[in-house]
Amino acid sequence: MRPAPGCLTSAVSELQRVTVLAGGVGGARFTRGLLAHLKDAHPDGAGGSRVAVTVVVNTGDDMTLDGLRICPDLDTVMYTLGGGISEEQGWGRDDESRRVSAEISAYGRGWDWFTLGDLDLATHIVRTDLLSGGATLSEVTEFLCRRWRPGATLLPMSDSPVETHVRVAEAVDEHPAGSLIHFEEWWVRYRAGVPATEFVQVGLENATAAPGVIEAIRGADIIVLPPSNPVVSVGTILAVPGVRDALRQTSARVVGVSPIIGGAAVRGMADACLSTIGVETSAKAVGVHYGARTAGGVIDGWLVDETDEDAVASLADAGLRARAVPLWMRDVDATSRMAEATLALALD
Ligand code: GDP
Ligand code: CA
Repeated sequence: MRPAPGCLTSAVSELQRVTVLAGGVGGARFTRGLLAHLKDAHPDGAGGSRVAVTVVVNTGDDMTLDGLRICPDLDTVMYTLGGGISEEQGWGRDDESRRVSAEISAYGRGWDWFTLGDLDLATHIVRTDLLSGGATLSEVTEFLCRRWRPGATLLPMSDSPVETHVRVAEAVDEHPAGSLIHFEEWWVRYRAGVPATEFVQVGLENATAAPGVIEAIRGADIIVLPPSNPVVSVGTILAVPGVRDALRQTSARVVGVSPIIGGAAVRGMADACLSTIGVETSAKAVGVHYGARTAGGVIDGWLVDETDEDAVASLADAGLRARAVPLWMRDVDATSRMAEATLALALD
């Protein structure tokens, strides 16, 4: 139920469940700020928050390398929320070394442009071992989180392998023009610099949402699309059969946070993904791309950075409640204020 104007405080105090649909670095940092805000604003008396947060994480970047199953976005969220992330990189473990990767390269195996840190490798070894013993990715994620205690429930978007591949427009190294390469190869090896014509989610047609995902969307009070890559992070989650419909039908408020500030992807190369699908790199265009639920889209509200304030009126014309606030995730405090503004927009 939409709270009546003026009833904001009582609506917030009833907040019970928030669900976030996240990619890696952007989704993880936003969720860390959200948890910090909820701990202060809705404490449980034991150092946490009484608001339950579920993070549905993109698994489209997953891959098998050196015989190991790697889940980059799940690990980024888990390490960030669990306190083990490398703050400088935004992904991988802090205090890391790369001796094992160097040894694998000496055998001429693996991808020489993709290094796995020694500490990080332990996660992949444990995950691969559990998967080969018959556990699902959801079960493995729950097991890994017993150690990291992220303060939120982490759910892979799907237990079936789904891998984002990129169709390259030009021949590059061993890849002919028009062939499909793994997203991580396009992103990390080629820094998204090879023109692409489309993203293909290999395995998607047979995939189903992981246990709890649809329920987390249907049963939430607020759903947040954090400032994650709208194409290959959130876009991939939305493509999992059933997810888009669940978002359209949920009684929760659905709000998004722009990953684009002043016409540029804040960190990374999201602009290359947006141009591939024909969406302009602007806060307004990404909001319109997600679209208002009242017009067949998936969000009700859209938060833009204060420098994009002039987009607010036209976003309103597109059926989106929009507001402009600082959206740079400089530190946990700034991100916590961003999360507070996100929840306020949802409950407005
Ligand atoms: P990835 O899977 O590691 O690429 O991470 P995500 O998909 O979750 O998020 C990547 C996106 O986060 C990038 O495309 C950026 O546009 C966005 N981003 C990174 N840092 C910030 C920030 O400080 N503020 C905002 N608004 N967006 C950010
Ligand atoms: Ca990712």
